[in-house]
Amino acid sequence: MAEIADEPDQPSADPVESTVLLIEDDVSIRAFVRNRLEIDGYHVTEAASGEEGLEKLTPSTILVIVDVGLPGIDGFGVVRAMRRISRVPIVMMTAAADEGDRVFGLELGADDYIIKPFLPREMMARVRAAIRRGSPLQSASGSTEEPAAIVESDGLSIDPAAREALVDGVLLPLTAREFELLRFLAESPRQVFSREQLLRQVWEVEPGWLGTSTVTEHVHRVRRQLESHSGTTARIVTVRGAGYRFDPK
Ligand code: CA
Repeated sequence: MAEIADEPDQPSADPVESTVLLIEDDVSIRAFVRNRLEIDGYHVTEAASGEEGLEKLTPSTILVIVDVGLPGIDGFGVVRAMRRISRVPIVMMTAAADEGDRVFGLELGADDYIIKPFLPREMMARVRAAIRRGSPLQSASGSTEEPAAIVESDGLSIDPAAREALVDGVLLPLTAREFELLRFLAESPRQVFSREQLLRQVWEVEPGWLGTSTVTEHVHRVRRQLESHSGTTARIVTVRGAGYRFDPK
């Protein structure tokens, strides 16, 4: 696999405290991925099975990369088990042919996927994006791509820097992707976005790689959270035949 000249990247968290947990039974793929992560300064913990991966998840894990095909508990089982106890960003590795695998993994709560065989550059872009979305703190290396403007809307407050959405000061328990979806819609109030646009903007994938039902599911979950709080009338509205929009009140 030819690697094009790649700029060195800054890990977005303290490398001493933070580790990437890599769960893959294939020794050569594991070594390849580990090597690429370490070039970028990440500390890597390896696991060769789902069981071992679950044991090695700690509070200092900033990202989990898990292969779908594992002996024993497979990648889906790992995602399901981790989501019961953790909001850590999870990226799945899957074979190109298995579109169903990608959709299933995301529905279980994985944040993203890498399709094998992958280019190191693409893998690292997805790794960095997943860590960034999952991190409550801005990169110490001074990333300028995140606008820090807080969106305030009738009791609802969305803070991109802290990655928190609050209603009258009460934190909404959103996953990283749910937060991104709410934030994206709220930044353009009353503007309608199609499911395909949301896949491109929030999931950073081309429609067709991922079913639009993933968007529908996430919208429903965010909507339920907003509606469960009387402190705000902000809503995500379905516009029949067109998509979704954020109504401030
Ligand atoms: Ca495997």
